Amino acid sequence: MSAQTPRRRPTGAVVVAPPPAAETRPPESGTPSPPSKTREWRPFLLDFFPLETPDQTRLHRFYDRLREGRLSTTRCRRDGSLHWPPRTACPTCRTEELEWVDLPEHGHIYAFSAVLAGAPLGLESDVPFAVGLIDLDGTPLRLFGRIEGRPWNELRIGAPVRTEAYDIGDGRMFYRFRTTE
Ligand SMILES: [Zn+2]
Repeated sequence: MSAQTPRRRPTGAVVVAPPPAAETRPPESGTPSPPSKTREWRPFLLDFFPLETPDQTRLHRFYDRLREGRLSTTRCRRDGSLHWPPRTACPTCRTEELEWVDLPEHGHIYAFSAVLAGAPLGLESDVPFAVGLIDLDGTPLRLFGRIEGRPWNELRIGAPVRTEAYDIGDGRMFYRFRTTE
């Protein structure tokens, strides 16, 4: 199986990250001020999106490639197995001899649902929105993610989607899916 597909164009300018969170915090005082509700002040454990820099994750290349508009994952150089999510070691043979490969841009909706309430911190104003499982064409991979393009109640099982990289608003990158019909 080949995961080689035409690469997408970069999605646009790289957004410069905002100042470090510490600079947005209220000044120290005897009585702690309530945290601001900006995205920069999300408590780490409630932050829906992963940390992405080399000092934060060994999977930083996944995000570097997303910044180039490429959704990718790791493949084992020894047994050829394709992983999702990307790994630092092969779950089958445990080698760390992995390579990065681009994933196909197109897929189809296997299942979907809608978030109508209780969205993760920072996503509250996006409700309602659709999430789903996407079978990526030509791979054995089924990815979970947000589905954009159509209202959730107009989606259908089997509908075609494409992958999309986007800046979540603070300089970090993530992926989602967009309907193509
Ligand atoms: Zn392996």
